[in-house]
Amino acid sequence: MKILVINCGSSSIKYSLIDIESEETLVQGIVEKIGEEHSIFRQRVLGREVERRVKVRNHKDGLKLILDSLKSPSTGVIRDQSEISAVGHRVVHGGSDFVESTVIDDKVIETIRKYSSLAPLHNPPNLTGITILRELLPGIPHVAVFDTAFHQTMPEVAYLYPIPYEYYEKYGVRRYGFHGVSHRYVSHKAAEILRRDIRELKIITCHLGNGCSITAVDRGRSVDTSMGFTPLEGVPMGTRSGDIDPSIIQFLADVENLTLNEIYEILNKRSGLLGLSGVSNDVREIKKAADSGDHRAEIALEILAYRVKKYIGAYAAVMGGVDAIVFTAGIGENAHYIRSKICEGLEFLGVILDEDRNRNPAEWNGVISAENSRVKVLVVPTREDLIIAKETLEAVTKAEERRKT
Ligand code: ADP
Repeated sequence: MKILVINCGSSSIKYSLIDIESEETLVQGIVEKIGEEHSIFRQRVLGREVERRVKVRNHKDGLKLILDSLKSPSTGVIRDQSEISAVGHRVVHGGSDFVESTVIDDKVIETIRKYSSLAPLHNPPNLTGITILRELLPGIPHVAVFDTAFHQTMPEVAYLYPIPYEYYEKYGVRRYGFHGVSHRYVSHKAAEILRRDIRELKIITCHLGNGCSITAVDRGRSVDTSMGFTPLEGVPMGTRSGDIDPSIIQFLADVENLTLNEIYEILNKRSGLLGLSGVSNDVREIKKAADSGDHRAEIALEILAYRVKKYIGAYAAVMGGVDAIVFTAGIGENAHYIRSKICEGLEFLGVILDEDRNRNPAEWNGVISAENSRVKVLVVPTREDLIIAKETLEAVTKAEERRKT
């Protein structure tokens, strides 16, 4: 069974075709710079990458190009589009309405549209992708897989901001959380690796990629997460600040004569690891600079680790303990020195890292804590395309079962 996974952004479309039985990614690709003079179409089929410059006027052209390339006799992997059984659409914001991945109908589309005001950069292009692909691939289920859904189990005490309640009531100003599919997947996978029932575990998942978020998963349910109303809250990220005193916004507006939009641009695109180090948003570059004595680069990495550690402490307190800490995404999976710094000093919680294992997690089935560590520490690679495909299948199966009963 083949599932097409689509992540439709404002000027790009990422896609994968997944064989759900073998869990293999048959094709992965991206159409970038949609609407510009020279768009880029990049596709990897069975490890071979091809890149072309093409003119893609709009998302419809882009999606047609993707479907055609999947069927192309030279680079394609299917003979006919009827081989695609379902489409999984990544949707950033499902607000308070969606607690799980959902088969799309007109009502679902309306609800996603309702939340566009909360995610103005993401939900509208996500919807464009859904609308066009439902036309191009009719008769098969399309499923919305939400970044926010997994966190809908957060209690009020975790999701309400201490600001006038009316803003929550009137506009839905509350904490939503993101990266939900990743936190859900790696927490379940960790329980599986530990051969434990997730319903008896307290897990802290650290998704550290370009965007970073930490989640407290108590017996399989997200009870708190570091990203909030938008992905700007929480730990520092590649270019996002994470938590800061909101008064800084007014102060900078005054002293630098900046508009609110300019400040949000700074907090989203020029802060975090990039802003601190002045080198890059990429941990690999920053590490190189730090190793050659660049203080700002060194302190950027220290601050990332320090703030992640603070969240781990907070979430252990929230859950009344912790059984496992899980690292995932680009930094979490690859940067052993960041994992070391985060776990350093957490012995009081029962965390003891085994440095040899930390450097070769794959050889240890991802478990990098010492034998005598009460808290297990794991590295679990996240594969967003596969997770979305699995969630898609799960939603389709559930919908079919509901229809039968
Ligand atoms: P996204 O959030 O865009 O999916 P990823 O999860 O791929 O991002 O994470 C990208 C980030 O991971 C890079 O910017 C870089 O900081 C970090 N990263 C990737 N590979 C490595 C590596 N080998 N060592 C250290 N950091 C890495």
